[in-house]
Amino acid sequence: MAAQETVDHKYVYDFSEGNKELKDLLGGKGANLAEMTNLGLPVPPGFTITTEACQAYLATGREPDGLAGQIEAHLEALEREMGKRLGDSQDPLLVSVRSGAKFSMPGMMETVLNVGLNDESVVGLSAQAGQNDRFAWDSYRRLIQMFGKTVCEVPGEEFEHALDEAKHAKATHNDLDLDADDLRGLVDAYKKIFLKHTGREFPQQPREQLDLAIRAVFESWNAERAVLYRRQERIPADLGTAVNVVTMVFGNLGPDSGTGVAFTRDPASGAQGIYGDYLANAQGEDVVAGIRNTVPLQELEQLDKSSYDELLGIMARLEEHYKDLCDIEFTIERGKLWMLQTRVGKRTAAAAFVIAGQLVDEGLIDLDEALLRVNGAQLAQLMFPRFQLDHEFQPVAKGIGASPGAASGTVVFTSARAVELAAEGESVILVRRETNPDDLNGMIAAKGILTSRGGKTSHAAVVARGMGKTCVSGADEIEVNVPAKRFTVAGQTVTEGDVVSIDGTTGKVYLGEVPVMPSEVVQYFEGSLDPEHIDNALVRAVHRIMTHADGKRRLAVRTNADTGADAARARRFGAEGIGLCRTEHMFLGDRRELVERLILARAPGEREAALAALLPLQRADFEEIFREMDGLPVTVRLIDPPLHEFLPPLEQLAVNVAVAQERGEDVAKEEALLAAVRRMHEENPMLGLRGVRLGLVIPGLFAMQVRAIAEAAVSCARNGGVAKPEIMVPLVGAVQELETVRAEAEKIIAEVVGDSGVEVLIGTMIEVPRAALTAGQIAEAAEFFSFGTNDLTQMGWGFSRDDVEGAFFWRYLELGIFGISPFESIDRDGVGRLVRIAAEEGRAARPGLKLGVCGEHGGDPDSVHFFHEVGLDYVSCSPFRVPVARLEAGRAVVESGGSDSR
Ligand code: ADP
Ligand code: MG
Ligand code: MG
Repeated sequence: MAAQETVDHKYVYDFSEGNKELKDLLGGKGANLAEMTNLGLPVPPGFTITTEACQAYLATGREPDGLAGQIEAHLEALEREMGKRLGDSQDPLLVSVRSGAKFSMPGMMETVLNVGLNDESVVGLSAQAGQNDRFAWDSYRRLIQMFGKTVCEVPGEEFEHALDEAKHAKATHNDLDLDADDLRGLVDAYKKIFLKHTGREFPQQPREQLDLAIRAVFESWNAERAVLYRRQERIPADLGTAVNVVTMVFGNLGPDSGTGVAFTRDPASGAQGIYGDYLANAQGEDVVAGIRNTVPLQELEQLDKSSYDELLGIMARLEEHYKDLCDIEFTIERGKLWMLQTRVGKRTAAAAFVIAGQLVDEGLIDLDEALLRVNGAQLAQLMFPRFQLDHEFQPVAKGIGASPGAASGTVVFTSARAVELAAEGESVILVRRETNPDDLNGMIAAKGILTSRGGKTSHAAVVARGMGKTCVSGADEIEVNVPAKRFTVAGQTVTEGDVVSIDGTTGKVYLGEVPVMPSEVVQYFEGSLDPEHIDNALVRAVHRIMTHADGKRRLAVRTNADTGADAARARRFGAEGIGLCRTEHMFLGDRRELVERLILARAPGEREAALAALLPLQRADFEEIFREMDGLPVTVRLIDPPLHEFLPPLEQLAVNVAVAQERGEDVAKEEALLAAVRRMHEENPMLGLRGVRLGLVIPGLFAMQVRAIAEAAVSCARNGGVAKPEIMVPLVGAVQELETVRAEAEKIIAEVVGDSGVEVLIGTMIEVPRAALTAGQIAEAAEFFSFGTNDLTQMGWGFSRDDVEGAFFWRYLELGIFGISPFESIDRDGVGRLVRIAAEEGRAARPGLKLGVCGEHGGDPDSVHFFHEVGLDYVSCSPFRVPVARLEAGRAVVESGGSDSR
């Protein structure tokens, strides 16, 4: 930083000196103004003060050495070029001062237009505009208003109020009905307001106006709203903003002038066409401020055909140059078109896919590039059901889309009520000012969560995302009154029992039940929409990009599925096998009784009988799954959770026993169960008797499962199918554990499989840190590793997911201890390092060791990129995440230069 403060350091760039790659230095706006200038487009001349100057200012509280001189020099050059002097009393040069950071950011200082006007130059401006007094005084009052508000923090309402009064005096609602005298009067009123709030006269010195405005832009980087926004969007706090000083052009010179905004295609759907708004005889913000009604851009063709044609030409040129959808701001001054801004435009998830597809058709980008233009988060968004909105439904509030989805339901204000109504089968939306850990049960019961406070990292947002539940947070137009069981919004009162609908993608809140429609993208993945035969641009684009991703990716994508139905669905979604088939559910329902017998067995004979009864049931489960996954690998995890999870809860048993005893019934069995539950109680079940430990302690349990798997595979083969079972031993921490299980399993497999040709692999989960650190040894006994990154994260960090997400994660996120929950996206530095070590040492010990991941991270976009980099063979995720993982696995290859990263 110190070196940058020397006199030589370049802090100011003329538009002709920059280009679009210099966003870090010149901010987005400045870099793109420079790019357009160098393309020869009509951009009013100007210069950009760099983000480095801002950083230096913010670090020291004063302008860095050399900055003032460089501004002076660039201003002089600008004055020479324009043949005018800033604020000259005869023929003034006027400029706008515009902030522009690397990322566009609400809450930063807005623009000040017309800098350079004062009591004298306003007269000169009028003369130059052909004695257009109205225009000159209108420009002057705008300067005082914007300068007062944004540079000197004069409350904006005061100016608005004075303007309203002036219109009221004229009995009009239209700014244009105010004549020069009215506006001159308004300037006086504005000056008084300025004086009242700042204790000084409105500065008349043009250069002082300029310097104060520049400084205010620098300081606006640390405005409260900007700081909050950055934290929420995870934008680094030290980037700083650039400042653009741009020669003013005037859209308010009369009916042959005007200003507008446009998109080069529809940012909502991606459709080609002309999308924009135009407002004649207006300046800057008027278009978006909604002061007067704009007209669709197409109407400019009638108003000013030559500007319209030129604009369309420029838009086409920009698209071709940026090879993407652009949005633009322009102004027409007496029939002359000026470009004031462009950038690659924001768009919806659907438009992102559609536009990427179109640009390929137009030959502007190739399919690799198209793949980079979309992402898994967008695809996931498109897979949620959506609200079917027509004009009947207008949002009443807009908060932050904290967890996507569309949910309608009855409003409740307490967790208890949510649980109650949900138990009756009702869909409920839990509405709170903010949530806290006490609300957890209500959040689980609710279909969606709506809060009036808090951002993307609030308790509500973090927990809802963890649960995959729709959530809108921070809808601050809503006034929640929990004791009175109601909220008010836009003058309406909503009480408990009313229905609302919330959109966790857009953050919008609607009163009443908005109908929900299924996702076309899901229908396509399910095979019920044929992309070749329907007229649906989105589905066609998704199909095309997914096909390309599949062709590119090196990672295989499997699914986590426990039933034949899940397996079948995931296969339609493109799963190439099962990476995790949990067997615990096979011990539930009417099989609980067998598990109880197993646990209570006193003699080996009783235990064997229980296992023998479970065997055919398990075998049937596996047969169904192997059938659905014919020809593809299926990783079956031997039973993992502690067995007492399959017994009734202690309290319930205790009550049952007491009641039965009271009635004098035979309670021998219940008493035995109760004793077992007491005996098996664990303080930390997550770290207790589970996984491989269970297999080593309960004779015959794993053996039964291994036998069921092998027999099912053989039966599948006999019926002409191909089963590829991979038996996975959970929670291994030492190779000796695996060796013991393996020795027994191999015997059984050899006996069952015989010469059927079935091959059964035996491997392990790597989910205990010790396993990762001794992976070289463990690989000697394992044909594959599958990283269980949920447990690896829990044990790596030493916190249990169920306890911590609701308890303190919001605070950790707020403090920036992590930017995103390590359960959502893998912690590359810590847990990721364990994965890396295990992958490297495992492969060193056993070349060709198969590596996969089966935690929820397998479907998280950023984590998929990490697993690609580490060189795993596959990721496995829930069926709905399979397309996301396929897309991201393809993107990971293109992003890393198209090469195999292993
Ligand atoms: P924002 O980032 O909020 O869009 P801008 O700096 O783009 O702020 O400016 C706000 C408005 O003022 C825009 O409509 C812009 O086109 C207009 N504007 C900015 N500079 C000039 C200028 N030199 N001449 C005319 N209008 C301008
Ligand atoms: Mg703008
Ligand atoms: Mg586990």
